[in-house]
Amino acid sequence: MGWVIMKRRVPCIFLSFLAVLWQASCDAPRSAPAPAPRAELDPGRLSGTNALEEVRRFVALGLRDSGTPGAERAAEYLAGRLRALGLEPVVDAFKDRSPKGETTFRNVTATVPGTAPGLIVLGSHYDTKAGLGPAFEGANDSGSSTGLLLELGRLLVNGPRERPAVMLAFFDGEECMVDYGPFDGLHGSRRLAAELKRTGQAAAVQAVIILDMIGDRDLSVTLPRNATPDLRTRVFHAAREEGIREKFALGSGPILDDHVPFLERGMPAVDIIDFQFGSAPGRNDYWHTTADSMDKLSAESLERVGRVVVRVLNTLPAHGSP
Ligand SMILES: [Zn+2]
Repeated sequence: MGWVIMKRRVPCIFLSFLAVLWQASCDAPRSAPAPAPRAELDPGRLSGTNALEEVRRFVALGLRDSGTPGAERAAEYLAGRLRALGLEPVVDAFKDRSPKGETTFRNVTATVPGTAPGLIVLGSHYDTKAGLGPAFEGANDSGSSTGLLLELGRLLVNGPRERPAVMLAFFDGEECMVDYGPFDGLHGSRRLAAELKRTGQAAAVQAVIILDMIGDRDLSVTLPRNATPDLRTRVFHAAREEGIREKFALGSGPILDDHVPFLERGMPAVDIIDFQFGSAPGRNDYWHTTADSMDKLSAESLERVGRVVVRVLNTLPAHGSP
């Protein structure tokens, strides 16, 4: 298969299963339930410039490989930014087995309350891939989605509350150290998915929307096959409303990313990822290299993706469970 599915190795059985399961899904527009006008967020208030500035400040902190002081510093920084928005962040430090032995990971979450039932999770990992040398910045992977999530938080805090609560979730440990498996990679998302299940909140989750590598100047989003079809449809519909439907495509296969642990626990989830991050269209040669630097990002791409997310949020039912 093409490179799209190669980001994360996925077992063949898993691939076949997904192929069957999602083959039939299509992205024909489906009219979503109309929310009450008062509950609508204004996509026009999302600022790509703000988002890019958030990315710049976050990336300037330096490398944030899981289990290092840099990651801890990044977690504390994110908690501070959430506090500055008037939210009450939770830093969930937990130990998990990894190829390095027992490692401490830190998820940072904060919930913007809403008056309607239900919970929406907006997620991004914030750790950097280890072993790429001191010059690696991880501006797009994972700075871009981290910065955009902070800007979405600003919009939500200042928006109407007649909506489901929205949890902003910053995951540690998305990147694998050797290869993806039960004890390598996706540590933070696995942890939150398990916690939501354990505390009985999973049943109320209407959507988990993961953002990853969405700051590329040359925006080309691929929605993986392993996503909840209804959410994928909502994303395509929102992109059409924004006039950028051509920048969103259905991927040729599944991708193993932070949305997967939520899918596995029965929560609707989608991954908004641009996995063509490279020197020419269709190439991904900046990914996990020192070329993943701030100059490859644009405020426009961050704003485009952010506005699509806002429109998706506006389509999600304001009353009752999915
Ligand atoms: Zn990565």
